[in-house]
Amino acid sequence: MKWKIEDTPEKLSFRKEFREWLSQNLKPGWLESIDEGDDAKFAQVSQGFDFFGWMTVIGKSGYGAPMWPKEYGGLSGEQWMVQLVREELERYRLPLFGINLLGVGLAGPTIIAHGSEQHKKQYLAKILSGEEIWCQLFSEPGSGSDLSSLSTRAIKDGDEWIVNGQKVWTTIAQFAKYGMLLARTDPELPKHDGLTYFILDMKSPGVEVRPLKQMSGGAEFNEVYFTDVRIPDENRVGEINQGWECARTTLMNERMTLSGISLDISSITGGSKKDPWSSFIGSIRDTEDLVARQKIAQFYIEQECKEITTFRANSARARGEQPGAEGGVNKVFNAEFNQRKTNFLINSAGMNGVAWLPGDKQAESRSHGFLRARAATIEGGTSEVLRNQMAERILGLPRDIEVDRGVPWKEIRRN
Ligand SMILES: Cc1cc2nc3c(=O)[nH]c(=O)nc-3n(C[C@H](O)[C@H](O)[C@H](O)COP(=O)(O)OP(=O)(O)OC[C@H]3O[C@@H](n4cnc5c(N)ncnc54)[C@H](O)[C@@H]3O)c2cc1C
Repeated sequence: MKWKIEDTPEKLSFRKEFREWLSQNLKPGWLESIDEGDDAKFAQVSQGFDFFGWMTVIGKSGYGAPMWPKEYGGLSGEQWMVQLVREELERYRLPLFGINLLGVGLAGPTIIAHGSEQHKKQYLAKILSGEEIWCQLFSEPGSGSDLSSLSTRAIKDGDEWIVNGQKVWTTIAQFAKYGMLLARTDPELPKHDGLTYFILDMKSPGVEVRPLKQMSGGAEFNEVYFTDVRIPDENRVGEINQGWECARTTLMNERMTLSGISLDISSITGGSKKDPWSSFIGSIRDTEDLVARQKIAQFYIEQECKEITTFRANSARARGEQPGAEGGVNKVFNAEFNQRKTNFLINSAGMNGVAWLPGDKQAESRSHGFLRARAATIEGGTSEVLRNQMAERILGLPRDIEVDRGVPWKEIRRN
């Protein structure tokens, strides 16, 4: 990486300590093969890597969430440690959060900020170790960008709540033990004011998870239906009707979690990680073509701009500050950049972009990358909505029109 912040002695010693821990907890030769740029050796060492086992190992070490308090499995550390751990994991080609991305990235920080002592004791350590997978039950068929308009109802019944309604787009609900559920508890109040945040045991009677088949072939997300589902009041996070405050913590963390993740060029082409650019260029059929050459140069320039913006966000994190507008800017840019690159790869492959012989891994991975990249401009906030936010917060343009501000939710027109 060209854009790099120099380590202070304190950071250097933490990096050294973490690298030592990595070398003790990975197969011998893992770190060395990458440091030496030996892809063949790396392929050999990393063969049969136990992805789930690794999550437990890093989850129990504290390095999985350095900012979390020590008593709940973290290091009671500082923001720069998170950044540094991310850099080292990326360098050594290790997954950032694994399958419990939503647990570690979203649920944990929300429970730390708004949960009771009992919630922290019961859930945090098992989120980190990956023993309990979490999902996010926010979006509904009529409420995505306009999330606070959601309709799933929770009605109090003694010490319990009875929930009815439907969620959609729920990533990994099929594996989840718990869900972060946002439900309407007072329809008389304006839309943001009548919501409450719950922890839902996904195995409760009345919860039905239906997978949604994607065009890329997988089924990462689901529809989730609730029919008279009972949730004990002790599973409520924060005060009744103040769920929006907790949801904002989840959403802010979602943007930060996703802004650091994007498909890199080598994962799109399925090529070597040692030199992603030559692998990218090598996957293009006709590099003598003048239009292709111009596109490659343009992608190179854009990649540099992206790295500089990431560098600014990382510098803010390293100073212990929260990244500002760079988070949203990077999310929009990465999502659209991935789409442009994958479009180009498919086009430049000619017929091989749409039809190939079984076993052609490069063609398969190119096609998967192209199809998966469609989701990037929707998940975690659409590019249009993020552009609205940038217009308001960075450029100081007038706020988006809100015709339902202050109107009781039950009087708002919905589709
Ligand atoms: C891969 C993937 C995984 C997801 N995982 C989860 C999950 O685990 N849990 C969860 O709760 N949700 C999840 N989501 C849902 C995601 O948060 C929503 O899809 C997203 O917020 C958009 O909502 P929507 O799909 O209802 O689109 P809509 O909000 O209906 O938007 C439709 C179109 O209108 C545009 N639009 C809407 N409002 C405005 C506006 N004010 N100004 C300009 N344009 C506007 C949008 O940009 C979009 O183009 C996931 C989505 C994807 C793609």
